[in-house]
Amino acid sequence: MNDNQKIQYIEKIYQKLSKNLKSCTLCPRNCQINRLNNELGYCGQGKKIKIYSSFLHFGEEPPISGKRGSGTIFFSGCSLRCAYCQNYKFSQQPKGEVVEEEDLARIMVDLAKNNAENINLVTPAHFLPQILKALKISWEKGLKLPIVYNGSGYEQKETVEALEPIIDSWLIDFKYISSETAKNYSNSPRYPHLVKNTLSYLYKQKNGQNKLNKGQIPPIIIRHLILPGHIDETRRILTWIKKNTPQAWISVMSQYQPYFKAKEFAKINRTLNLKEYNQIKKLVEVLGLRGWLQEFKPQENLAGVHFKKGKREL
Ligand code: SF4
Repeated sequence: MNDNQKIQYIEKIYQKLSKNLKSCTLCPRNCQINRLNNELGYCGQGKKIKIYSSFLHFGEEPPISGKRGSGTIFFSGCSLRCAYCQNYKFSQQPKGEVVEEEDLARIMVDLAKNNAENINLVTPAHFLPQILKALKISWEKGLKLPIVYNGSGYEQKETVEALEPIIDSWLIDFKYISSETAKNYSNSPRYPHLVKNTLSYLYKQKNGQNKLNKGQIPPIIIRHLILPGHIDETRRILTWIKKNTPQAWISVMSQYQPYFKAKEFAKINRTLNLKEYNQIKKLVEVLGLRGWLQEFKPQENLAGVHFKKGKREL
C-alpha cells in the first residue's frame, strides 16, 4: 500500500472499529458496555485514551530497539489483567494521563522527531479505534515509521485481520498453552485457543518474510515470560512454536518477579531458579528456535522495563 492507500484504509477500519465502543467487543472479554458513556469494562478504560508513558526504549528486542530506541507508548489498562502482572502499576491501577487522539498523534510525531526506530504500541487492544484515529492524523502529518503491535496475545480475530495490512511487526505474547493455567492467573481459559489462532493466522500472512535484511524488523516476534513452577507450560509452548510457526522469531524472558497478586499463588510467588532456567535454555537450543533468550538474572528489578542487557541472540 502506498501512503494514500494506507490513510484510506485506516479510515475504513477506524469507522468499523469505532462502532465497537458503543457496545464494546474490542477484546475477547466482550463486555458490551457503552464506553462512549464512559462505562468501564474489564479493562477499566472508558472513552478516552490513557497513556502511562512514552519514551525511546532501548530495552526491547535488538531489532525493535535498534540503535536509536523504539518509540514506545505504554497504554494504561489491560483486558487480560494477569495476577502477576509485571506492569501492574499502570495496567491494573488507575495511573496515566488522559489524552485526545490529536495528543497521541503529536506524541508519535515527537517520537519520530527524536529519531525513534519505530512506533511501539504496548497493549493497545482496548484503545484501538482511538489509536487508529491518532495514527491517521500522524500519517497525514508525514509520519513514516514502522508500526509495532506489542500485544498480550488476547486479541479479537477480526481486529487482528483488519490491522494486519498496516502493522509492520507483531510482537505478541504467548503466555499460556493450558486453559487451566490461563484461567488461574488471567481468568481466561480461552487464551491458549485465541493466541494460537492469532499466531497461526499471522504466520500464514507473513510467511516468507522472515528473512531479515539489515535494519529490518521481524514481522513476528513471539514473546514468552517463563513462569516459575511452570516449566512444562514453557516446554509445551516452545514445542508448539517449533511445530506451527518455526520461522517466527522468539523472545524468551526469565525476568519474572512475583509482583501484584502473585503472593496469592504459592507456585509463582518467587523468581525463576537456575535449574528451571537451564532446562529451558537447553530446550531452546535443542529445538533450534531463533531469537533471543534472557540471561539468568532474576534478582534484577527490571521487569517490564529493560531487558536488553540480559538478551542474547540464539
Ligand atoms: S476492551 Fe475493555 S470494555 Fe472492551 S471488551 Fe475488552 S475489556 Fe471489555
